[in-house]
Amino acid sequence: MERRYIILANWKMNPETEKEALTLARAYKNLDVPKGIEFGALVPLPYARPIAKLWGRNKMLLGLQNINSEKSGAFTGEVSFAMLKPWTPKLVIVGHSERRAIGETDAEVNQKVLRALKENVTPIICVGEKVRDDHGFFLRTVEDSLKACLASVPKSAYPSIIIAYEPVWAISSNGGREMLPAECHEMMIFIRKVIADMLGGNKNMPRVIYGGSVNELNSREYLESGADGLLPGHASLDPKKMQKLFNSLAPIQK
Ligand code: PEP
Repeated sequence: MERRYIILANWKMNPETEKEALTLARAYKNLDVPKGIEFGALVPLPYARPIAKLWGRNKMLLGLQNINSEKSGAFTGEVSFAMLKPWTPKLVIVGHSERRAIGETDAEVNQKVLRALKENVTPIICVGEKVRDDHGFFLRTVEDSLKACLASVPKSAYPSIIIAYEPVWAISSNGGREMLPAECHEMMIFIRKVIADMLGGNKNMPRVIYGGSVNELNSREYLESGADGLLPGHASLDPKKMQKLFNSLAPIQK
């Protein structure tokens, strides 16, 4: 079955109030999304339920930005999938660089991936180097992280996973430059090669998407350079920008 492109908005710790979050979610509902695209948002936990209610059976995908890998226990301040039932998110992003910066490790990401898969939730695994070097050591960083995050994940589960390549230096809040489409192309090939080697072939491949200063001006180029989808952060808080981003992609077919 042909897969569609997927665009996932990472709202991060925004907006400040539930009222604003619902306004944004309502605006998302009214966006004109091209046919070949699946669209969703990764929202702060307190907004997830009201947005789920608002979106109802709408085809939009709703996801979280973190979850604990255990069902319950002595984990002060944490939230488990079990607590969200009967509502279950469609997706959860794990290993985002902003969470890694406050201590999340590949080993913890791996446990979250295994838990998400058990709960039929799609894990979006973020990997990406902090800086680049001329000798390609950053490739090893990405490879090691991928392998650690995917440890003991059954091969049959790989198609239910999304890998998000997000070079930390290209994230807008870090103030770096945008990644070039040619660099994105190389990384898509590299990541797929690492995974194909792990799988022993290119069956059961996960989707590999790109995130880092994605906007209405560069989205099409990133998709044309081989990404299966995009993860806009800052731009996703402005529905007008999101509409422009979708307009820049239409018509599109994978
Ligand atoms: C992100 O941090 O997930 C992200 C992609 O942010 P931005 O688009 O703002 O660079």
